[in-house]
Amino acid sequence: MFDKILVANRGEIALRVIRAAREMGIRSVAVHSTADADAMHVRMADESVCIGPPPGSDSYLSIPSIIAACEVTGAQAIHPGYGFLSENANFVQIVEDHDLTFIGPTAEHIRIMGDKITAKDTMKDLGVPCVPGSDGGVPNVDAARKLCDEIGYPVIVKATAGGGGRGMKVAQDAAGLERAFLTARSEAKAAFGNDEVYIEKYLTTPRHIEIQVFGDGKGKAVHLGERDCSLQRRHQKVLEEAPGPAISEEERERIGKICADAVARINYAGAGTIEFLYENGEFYFIEMNTRLQVEHPVTEAIFDVDLVQEQIRVAEGYPMSFTQEDLKINGHAIEVRINAEKLPEFSPRPGTITQFHAPGGLGVRMDSALYDGYKIPPYYDSLIAKLIVHGRDRQSALARLNRALGELIVDGVDTTVPLFHALLQEEDIQTGAYNIHWLEKWLETNLRG
Ligand code: ADP
Repeated sequence: MFDKILVANRGEIALRVIRAAREMGIRSVAVHSTADADAMHVRMADESVCIGPPPGSDSYLSIPSIIAACEVTGAQAIHPGYGFLSENANFVQIVEDHDLTFIGPTAEHIRIMGDKITAKDTMKDLGVPCVPGSDGGVPNVDAARKLCDEIGYPVIVKATAGGGGRGMKVAQDAAGLERAFLTARSEAKAAFGNDEVYIEKYLTTPRHIEIQVFGDGKGKAVHLGERDCSLQRRHQKVLEEAPGPAISEEERERIGKICADAVARINYAGAGTIEFLYENGEFYFIEMNTRLQVEHPVTEAIFDVDLVQEQIRVAEGYPMSFTQEDLKINGHAIEVRINAEKLPEFSPRPGTITQFHAPGGLGVRMDSALYDGYKIPPYYDSLIAKLIVHGRDRQSALARLNRALGELIVDGVDTTVPLFHALLQEEDIQTGAYNIHWLEKWLETNLRG
């Protein structure tokens, strides 16, 4: 095993990795910006190195500083968490060039999945079902019109280099196509410096269902079922649950096997998530994330596995500690993302936490880096905590979530906690009857400012 690993991240996910390492007897090195000198991940790690000023681009994204921190501390491997450098193929290459281990997939796999057209082509070849649409980029409006007449409306025009929900435009009918095409292209050019776009059939009421996969990098892979992440605002996930309330055991086994086989065939290493839109019993691939997801704890809860420890094991060259047959679902888990944001606009509200009390008790997990007196810096993502509950079934998980939210105290800043209190009162949430548009519509009628 490694003696020491460096965690190239901050906040709750840095703590998450430090905890996993400590249980394995591995020492951890935290890196931090000057704004995070008093952060919990710095206090909790065995060692820490300041890597630059507050902006992420000068610290958590500074590759030379992170490599230097490894060299100074003797860390042998780097865990990237999520966000920041976690899906940066160039970073992985540099890590390897310095004889360090990147805890994650290869640079090549990250590169393939980072380009949406290459990712879709690769998945299609591997037998993964995709949304009907163009084969690659669409050069002009005429070509777009011809294609859309074939696949039928509505359609969505998407930037090849897209991300974060930008550069996407829906055309309801042939009349709206030209404008959607040209707008998506100019937005893509402005946001990503690349105006290539592709076209897909637009699904009107899908759910967002993602399959957790895990590979050993040597041709073996398993799936750990699905997460339903349909409750989204502006394409940002707000609440996630596993198993998905709309997915049957047969569907899970079918799509899970397709995904596990696909990543096994490319010798994928570590944790990955294959994202689908799901409508009328069909799955349609949209993208693959080659890292640990924010919402991984719901999967850990129902399968009783530690995905971070597994990532570390596999990065060291050990076999996975479970087989597909070992992985049995136990109960139901729900995660809510607690952001320092003011409702109803969801505007970021950094500030000082005057009082913090984490809920506890059976089936409750709180992943956060908060403490009394903590000053949330204004430079980073507004996620400050994740509350994860696990129950014997969906109803008991919901009751537990309600109970745990009632115990939670985060004073001093506005948070998204009131949103979850309100959502839990909704019948559609209680029954699981929601799709990717449900939350936006609900917010319009219930939270208008
Ligand atoms: P990004 O990388 O920008 O997040 P994705 O391809 O993952 O882009 O899509 C983001 C979201 O956009 C999806 O979760 C879904 O809500 C919506 N979307 C994308 N493609 C389609 C489609 N073909 N039909 C309907 N909605 C779509």
